[in-house]
Amino acid sequence: MTGPRLRSVHVVVVGAGVAAVRLAERLAGHSRYAVTILGDEPCLPYNRALLPSALGSSRPAARLRFHAASWYRRNGINLRTGTAVIAIDRKSHRVVLADGNDVRYDVLVLALGAASTVPMVSGIRRLLARRCRVFTVRTAEDVRRLTAALHHARTVAVLGGGATGIALATGIALRGREVELVHSDAYLLDGVVDRTAANLIHTNLEKLGVRVRCGAPARSIVEGSAGVRLVCADGGLVVADMVVVACGARPRVRLAARAGLSIAEDGIAVTSELSVVDDPDIFAIGDCAAALGKGEALAAWEHADLLASALLGAPFERSPFLRTIRIHTGSLDLAVLGQPLAGTPVTLHDAARSTYKRLAVENNRLVGALLVGDTSEAGRLALALRRPWTPLFLRGVLFRYQDVEHRGLLPTETDLLCVCRSVSVAGFRAALDETSDWEEACRRTGAGTGCGTCRTAIERFASRYKTEHVA
Ligand SMILES: Cc1cc2nc3c(=O)[nH]c(=O)nc-3n(C[C@H](O)[C@H](O)[C@H](O)COP(=O)(O)OP(=O)(O)OC[C@H]3O[C@@H](n4cnc5c(N)ncnc54)[C@H](O)[C@@H]3O)c2cc1C
Repeated sequence: MTGPRLRSVHVVVVGAGVAAVRLAERLAGHSRYAVTILGDEPCLPYNRALLPSALGSSRPAARLRFHAASWYRRNGINLRTGTAVIAIDRKSHRVVLADGNDVRYDVLVLALGAASTVPMVSGIRRLLARRCRVFTVRTAEDVRRLTAALHHARTVAVLGGGATGIALATGIALRGREVELVHSDAYLLDGVVDRTAANLIHTNLEKLGVRVRCGAPARSIVEGSAGVRLVCADGGLVVADMVVVACGARPRVRLAARAGLSIAEDGIAVTSELSVVDDPDIFAIGDCAAALGKGEALAAWEHADLLASALLGAPFERSPFLRTIRIHTGSLDLAVLGQPLAGTPVTLHDAARSTYKRLAVENNRLVGALLVGDTSEAGRLALALRRPWTPLFLRGVLFRYQDVEHRGLLPTETDLLCVCRSVSVAGFRAALDETSDWEEACRRTGAGTGCGTCRTAIERFASRYKTEHVA
């Protein structure tokens, strides 16, 4: 005879992005917890950080999804897509859905993400609302809509010279459109990369035919019969068929605020354990929380790990803040890891190969890395940011080129191909033996579906493995 079964704790997660899926992955298989995910988007959860790479796809959500529907069923995760939560009743421990139903929770996790920031440009909100000339990119549906609109456009203005703006401008230019990139700061990716990297990216964009305008933000936008006209702060005029806005994101906090939860300047106010400051049964993770590293996929990931460890009573080792930005559009590769502008720089600038590598070292630790042109070492560097390193390792990274074989530096079976998802060379090889498609192998193992930094290296690894295997 078995003893009385304890009722499992119902964890309800509002939002179905990176943070929610990672939390579900960690809690799956633990009978103590029953997990329900309520997400307002109609599709299966996908990796938002890789959206720019899905430009041109008619089904971006399917391409970037974390798991098939069967994974959630198999792991007992009750995933409800197309389900918006409109209120939280903290007294009765219930969330109210847009269709009028409610769901009871024991533990509520807010993983609401962020919304695109709309810049202070006179006239832009009205045009955004009409959704035909001005677009933001936050969801898979945004990418699908933008891809469709590009069929009717010849000229495109992109507002914002951060990572997303650059990736979108590159992707659109590669699709044969004339692109003008308008950036308010003095140089591209200001504050994230140094001047050398910014200049290389600038030159690369110009080679693709993208006109880059730095230091003069757009001030107003009007629609005419031939498209839209943007007037910049220096009086300059940009005329285009359509405009893509990539000016950052702000945390989604309205649901929490309406439930009487405290809101800080940069998100829902949380403790260091990520519970909201006003209610021990509610937690906030990912972009919506005012917590370390917010706004980055890996930070959302780590918030979920921290919360899962607390719920499971497992130890959790906080890693140094790992920023990862990745642009890979077929013409330009950029990877930013950790804090590349901190500490003492160790650099290699190979102008002939348009390659620049900057490793930041502080107190005998690697604290950041910036790779432009050749990002094949990004995965190994992400790993090195968490582990002890040697000068020999640094030299190996600096002088290793993706198109040059270095026998002694080929990955070993136990090396991680993907750091976020802990996928080893051996694990990925096993998946490649079952499917010849490297993207399918990524889906099966989870490789490359975290921050995405390692996808270039994985693609190359798979193609080399395929060649050797077939031969
Ligand atoms: C175009 C783009 C490029 C990016 N590039 C990078 C990059 O290179 N590197 C990097 O580290 N990060 C990048 N990011 C940021 C990264 O994607 C986010 O930090 C990450 O997705 C945050 O995860 P999250 O789970 O907190 O929120 P999200 O992934 O935004 O998920 C939140 C989900 O909650 C849903 N939701 C909100 N309110 C409700 C509600 N009331 N009811 C039900 N559902 C709700 C939202 O619709 C959404 O589906 C990028 C983001 C974008 C948009």
